[in-house]
Amino acid sequence: MTETLTNWAGNITYTAKELHRPHSLDALATLVADSRKVRVLGSGHSFNEIAEPGDDGVLLSLTALPPAVDVDTTARTVRVAGGVRYAELARQVHEHGLALHNMASLPHISVAGSVATGTHGSGVTNGSLASAVREVELITSDGSTVTIARGEDRFDGAVTSLGALGVVTALTLDLEPDFEVSQQVFTELPLEGLDFEAVAASAYSVSLFTDWGQPGFRQVWLKRRTDQPNPGFPWAEPATEAAHPVPGMPARNCTQQFGVPGPWHERLPHFRAEFTPSSGAELQSEYLLPRADALSALHALDAIRETVAPVLQVCEVRTVAADRQWLSPAYGRDTVALHFTWVEDTAAVLPVVRRVEATLDIFDARPHWGKVFTVPSAVLRERYPRLDDFRSLAQSLDPAGKFTNAFVGDFLHPIS
Ligand SMILES: Cc1cc2nc3c(=O)[nH]c(=O)nc-3n(C[C@H](O)[C@H](O)[C@H](O)COP(=O)(O)OP(=O)(O)OC[C@H]3O[C@@H](n4cnc5c(N)ncnc54)[C@H](O)[C@@H]3O)c2cc1C
Repeated sequence: MTETLTNWAGNITYTAKELHRPHSLDALATLVADSRKVRVLGSGHSFNEIAEPGDDGVLLSLTALPPAVDVDTTARTVRVAGGVRYAELARQVHEHGLALHNMASLPHISVAGSVATGTHGSGVTNGSLASAVREVELITSDGSTVTIARGEDRFDGAVTSLGALGVVTALTLDLEPDFEVSQQVFTELPLEGLDFEAVAASAYSVSLFTDWGQPGFRQVWLKRRTDQPNPGFPWAEPATEAAHPVPGMPARNCTQQFGVPGPWHERLPHFRAEFTPSSGAELQSEYLLPRADALSALHALDAIRETVAPVLQVCEVRTVAADRQWLSPAYGRDTVALHFTWVEDTAAVLPVVRRVEATLDIFDARPHWGKVFTVPSAVLRERYPRLDDFRSLAQSLDPAGKFTNAFVGDFLHPIS
């Protein structure tokens, strides 16, 4: 059977002719052991070739395996199978009176694929989604099963792994007691005089949106936990109509606003599980840099907004707490994440991506692993101080490089 396999955005067509969907862990292990090159496709929401297996490589999906979500209410953990998406995980966790610490802008993405690329939500005290992971179960290159738990030295390389260590068949995540969130949108926050630290810390999760058509932000989304104090938001006026971050898109696709309290998983994402997230016709890029440089970086982007705005749908500014995953873009530093939803036109977008990268270069920006970027591998390598440790881990679990594709190989291995 020949299928045309593309990512969610449709800008990447995988060279694999077939998506293998094993029905059991045994069949999966045999397939891995018998194949020369392997990559897993999660929910395909990455915008680059990170999941591409290469010529003659096997692309496989875990969607035919049992979608286990096992909540342990005593330990406050959940063990989730490798193909499960956040929407299903969150629903079941909530049913047990428990919660994840944070979510990305959408619940449509697979848990394993998200943590592999360092996917994050927002909040100055909230680590990336990978920071909730306490144990990883992998099928490695010879078909054997390996479990790596928090506390082991190699754990800090095992979660945000770019899919380069093996097939993640299950993850165990920390949970916390259920909480409610109220979401409110404010409009027209000026860049001039912005106290970024105060704004970013004014709610559990804060997102600023601009189209760079003017200096400043058209919308600010505040997600407040109802069990935490509300310091108020004196810098902008509350929205009077329901909002979508992307101009022209329907607000009904978005989670409830106007401060109506609701369960964490129905407020932390911007987009509702049953609707298309974002605009649906787009490319995305994102750069993560030290939060202390947020204001300087925003002014630097403001200086090139006439270049950026024509190919931009929306730019989102979020924060991520420092984490310890060696390949996490938030590794070792409290972070500001500058995200760009571009128009769906690679040729028009790429020159602007390069301009943004040149502008953010002085801030030691690390691109999101799942989005469009052109930063050369040699530069990227300098931005990951624990890269050698990750190389050693990959070498130990996958000596022949079965899970190393061109995307990962360019980064891991300098051409001598
Ligand atoms: C509309 C939209 C909104 C987004 N919003 C956010 C956001 O709010 N925050 C953010 O940080 N990012 C966001 N992203 C990016 C997205 O979170 C990442 O691209 C993420 O990797 C998507 O997960 P996936 O399962 O679709 O990954 P895929 O693209 O399928 O795979 C990503 C990587 O993970 C590997 N992988 C997947 N599953 C496994 C497995 N079981 N075992 C081993 N390796 C595996 C793949 O091989 C690949 O290398 C968004 C993307 C879209 C399209």
